[in-house]
Amino acid sequence: MRFLKVAEYYRKIEETSGRLEMISLLKNLFLELKDSPEDLEKVAYLTIGKLRPDYEGVELGIGEKLALKAISLSTGIKESRINSEYKKLGDVGILAEWAVKNRAITPFVMEELTISRVYRDLLRIAKASGQSSQDVKIRTFAGLLSDAEPIEARYIARIVMGKLRLGIQDMTVLDALAEAFLGSRSRRLLLEQKYNIYPDIGRIARVVAEEGDAGLGKIEVRLGVPIRPMLAQRLKSAKEILEKAGPRVIAEYKYDGERMQIHIHRDGMVEIFSRRLENITNPYPDVAEAFSRYFSGREAIFDSETVAVNPNTGEILPFQELMHRRRKYGIEKAMEEYPTTTYVFDVLYLDGRSLIDVPLEERRKMLEKILPRKHDLIKEVTYRIVEDEESLEQFFEEAVEYGTEGVMAKDPRSIYQAGIRGWSWIKLKRSYMSKMVEPVDLVVVGAFAGKGKRAGTYGALLMAVYDPKTDRYKTVCKMGSGFTDEELASLPERLKEYRIQFRDPSVESKLEADVWLEPAIVLEVIGDEITLSPVHTCAWGVVRRNSGLAIRFPRFTGRWRDDKGPEDATTEEEIISMYKAQLTKVVEES
Ligand code: AMP
Repeated sequence: MRFLKVAEYYRKIEETSGRLEMISLLKNLFLELKDSPEDLEKVAYLTIGKLRPDYEGVELGIGEKLALKAISLSTGIKESRINSEYKKLGDVGILAEWAVKNRAITPFVMEELTISRVYRDLLRIAKASGQSSQDVKIRTFAGLLSDAEPIEARYIARIVMGKLRLGIQDMTVLDALAEAFLGSRSRRLLLEQKYNIYPDIGRIARVVAEEGDAGLGKIEVRLGVPIRPMLAQRLKSAKEILEKAGPRVIAEYKYDGERMQIHIHRDGMVEIFSRRLENITNPYPDVAEAFSRYFSGREAIFDSETVAVNPNTGEILPFQELMHRRRKYGIEKAMEEYPTTTYVFDVLYLDGRSLIDVPLEERRKMLEKILPRKHDLIKEVTYRIVEDEESLEQFFEEAVEYGTEGVMAKDPRSIYQAGIRGWSWIKLKRSYMSKMVEPVDLVVVGAFAGKGKRAGTYGALLMAVYDPKTDRYKTVCKMGSGFTDEELASLPERLKEYRIQFRDPSVESKLEADVWLEPAIVLEVIGDEITLSPVHTCAWGVVRRNSGLAIRFPRFTGRWRDDKGPEDATTEEEIISMYKAQLTKVVEES
């Protein structure tokens, strides 16, 4: 079919502001294409400004300069004129339309543009790469314009630049498809469900046009096609959560990293998709390799969260650290500097079988059977099944102490609702996000052996505050960040004279350090905030029963407070008031 027809519909759609009217126009366009499903498939992509589903990563959008050059080349209008006209018109579509209407050279022969030719050439433009790619892009675009009617030029130019903007998104296309091929717009939900597990608008359009309802049954979860992720609602308290998703919930740590849907093919190929369904396998070759090896010979789709970790302490690092992995170059180096752990929390497909309709509790059992017990890169999400408020709160504190954002509470009976933000998953996040601004002075009371690059030295130090009332040192964090390499290497030597066989009696600690140190050295430390903690003894039972306070994301500022003795360190009292000040601030802010 001619592309002109599509362009004319686009013009009408552009002139309409009502959504219903838009849907109705789109429906008519789709109906006209019923007998050529290949064309319909292409038009479904084009209408939302795309050429292929997002997860294939085919990006349109050539730069403005190239586009103007191509318009000049195909119409024979001087580039300077094109440029000045563009400034006046401000829209590349209108510019191309004007240029084609006012061609200075008439092509020798003009060929009518068909949908398939336009699509094929656009795909060539998008996929051109390497040395001659600019040339290919300009020539192909210019070639299309040479055969275009003015109105066709308007839309081709916009699509090429990634600026179609008809105001139509996927859901409107689904509405129109439902009206055209399933009899009514109310059937959109059905289409949407399929789209959520197979987000390829072209394929969906084609299947319903060819087979109607019967075709929908054939759309299933498939390896290599990302499922739209299930999302969570949010509540403010354990009580509300249990009322909503209880009586029993699976509470999981909520890691603050990058969502990853990991597809493992039988031949060992692994594809990783982001929350927005982009293929992000490239920046994470280590993750792909770990899954490929461990699950060799199997097929699976996992839902997971990947975080950056400190290889020495095993501590989870803030989200920004992980983002170093998203850079384009130097992946090898980034991989070494920012190792990751992937916490798997769901399995959606296993050895040929979709599991999305299986209740979470059973999916969890299957997951447990196949995940490794001990693996640096692949771990199962930490979770607990809870039935009462107190346990949920306690678990929440543990989660925060561990460096996560809070917990995800999930209804064990729920199926995996792709693309849905429902009440089967509810998040409970730390609400006090205010920053800890002042540094504190903490006493070194123990050390943990380093691993990897830090083997032979200490990976982290156990830090404490002082409580003058009881004359005790109470732990408040494990610190492994902020040291230079030399400093780190010299730590064992520097602290040697304070090494003792057993924990000093004045130190209160629930953690077992690898090396105990006499409280003597004071370091200046800055953290992100103060949180409740089930493992640190600072302020134990003061703010909450069975909880202490901890400093989250502690870093050494570089200052050895040689001017301070351990009794001059920050006190427990001070930490408590800093914690309270934080809370007041949040109340004021909210
Ligand atoms: P939010 O972005 O605040 O709406 O929280 C949802 C996100 O939390 C998900 O998209 C995941 O990336 C992330 N997440 C971390 N841990 C989990 C978990 N255990 N279960 C589900 N999502 C998790």
